[in-house]
Amino acid sequence: MLQDQEVHAAELERTFIAVKPDGVQRGLISEIISRFERKGYKLVGIKVVVPSKEFAGKHYHALKEKPFFNGLSEFLSSGPVVAMVWEGEGVITYGRKLIGATDPQKSEPGTIRGDLAVVVGRNIIHGSDGPETAKDEINLWFKPEELVSFTSNAEKWIYGVN
Ligand code: UDP
Repeated sequence: MLQDQEVHAAELERTFIAVKPDGVQRGLISEIISRFERKGYKLVGIKVVVPSKEFAGKHYHALKEKPFFNGLSEFLSSGPVVAMVWEGEGVITYGRKLIGATDPQKSEPGTIRGDLAVVVGRNIIHGSDGPETAKDEINLWFKPEELVSFTSNAEKWIYGVN
């Protein structure tokens, strides 16, 4: 029973993942979704948006003192972004592992950036870097009614709970 409760609590962990304009333009949306889906994570929100530069600046507010902040905000607002919320045990930390290091030159092969990107300014995907950021980013990009809660048939096979 305790195990059931633990799994239930873990399932509520959510992270914000976005395919950036370069990933969208390069036709990598399904590839990226597929890596999270095949791992066993659950998609609970998704939309295609072209964020304004101001919105992009809000998303990257923690980096506003960095020299690349302006170019980064401009780039994120330069075209469609696929904004998503993924749910599952350890999804925040493990999502970052699936994504790989910020600089694709340093990302391991097998990671999304390692396999699919070459330079840091065009690294195709964003993923929240911790629980607080995940909460803030989900709230920034999604209204509560745009997210769903459901139990998938696969969960008992992914988590081993009946
Ligand atoms: N970035 C960049 N130049 C740099 C470092 C970062 O253009 O020298 C961009 C890059 O697209 C990165 C984003 O800024 O994904 C956010 O940087 P952060 O350090 O938060 O990396 P992330 O969490 O995306 O791995």
